[in-house]
Amino acid sequence: MQITRNALETAAGPDAWFTGTVYIDTVAMPSTGSRLSASNVHFTPGARTAWHTHPNGQTIYVTEGVGLCQRRGGPIEVIRPGDRVFFEPGEEHWHGATRNRFMTHLAMLEVDEQGNSATWGVHVSDDEYNQQPS
Ligand code: MN
Repeated sequence: MQITRNALETAAGPDAWFTGTVYIDTVAMPSTGSRLSASNVHFTPGARTAWHTHPNGQTIYVTEGVGLCQRRGGPIEVIRPGDRVFFEPGEEHWHGATRNRFMTHLAMLEVDEQGNSATWGVHVSDDEYNQQPS
C-alpha cells in the first residue's frame, strides 16, 4: 500500500481568470515526461471562468453540484455529476456553477510545448451568464 499525502494547499482562483470565488486543488502537475495537468476546481454559486481556450483541448468531469458550460456561439448547457465535457483545442468556452448551487469538476488537459494550459480572454458578463436556463 502506498499513500500519497495531501500536501498542496488549496489555492484561490485568480481574479483575472474567474468571476466570483473559486478554489483549486492540484491533482497532477506537468513535469518532464508528462504534459498532464489535472485540477479539482470548486466553484461557489455564481462563480465561473472567463472565456478561454486550451491549446490541446480539455475534459471536465463534474463530481458535485450543478454547473454550466458554453462554447462561443452555442447555448448554455446544464451539467451535473457524472457528466463530462470535452472542449476542442482552440474552442472558446467557459464553465462554472449555476446561480444557486456549488459545482466541482475535475479538469484534465495536456499543456503545450511551452507548458501553457490556456489562453484567457474577457470575463463572462452578467448578461451572458444570465442567459442560463432556469
Ligand atoms: Mn476550460
